[in-house]
Amino acid sequence: MEKLIACCGLDCSTCDARIATIADDDVLRAQTAEKWKAQHGAVGILPEMINCTGCREEGVKFSHCAECEIRNCVQSKGFDTCADCEKLEDCALTVDLHKFVPEALENLKSLN
Ligand code: SF4
Ligand code: SF4
Repeated sequence: MEKLIACCGLDCSTCDARIATIADDDVLRAQTAEKWKAQHGAVGILPEMINCTGCREEGVKFSHCAECEIRNCVQSKGFDTCADCEKLEDCALTVDLHKFVPEALENLKSLN
């Protein structure tokens, strides 16, 4: 399941968008849209936008994940994830995420 660790270290296997996509579960899509609206103040999130197979899997991406700066950086360097980068613990792009979701950094470290 290593491939379900996102470029940034988030665990796509536990992400409601991916779970709803794999199960084609419209109830979970609606719940996830409401949850993310409340959590992130993103009022434009609609249930039909909740589709994602995972950061490093083939297939559809949730809108933010398709244009994610971290994912773009990893791909531009030819890496699998930030775990392959010497700046892993000293990166301006990931510092905020890893401060708020320290498990993401731990997930990346576990890949090495
Ligand atoms: S890439 Fe997709 S599955 Fe992974 S965290 Fe982002 S929305 Fe969730
Ligand atoms: S510079 Fe390195 S650690 Fe930072 S986002 Fe790019 S690949 Fe990840």
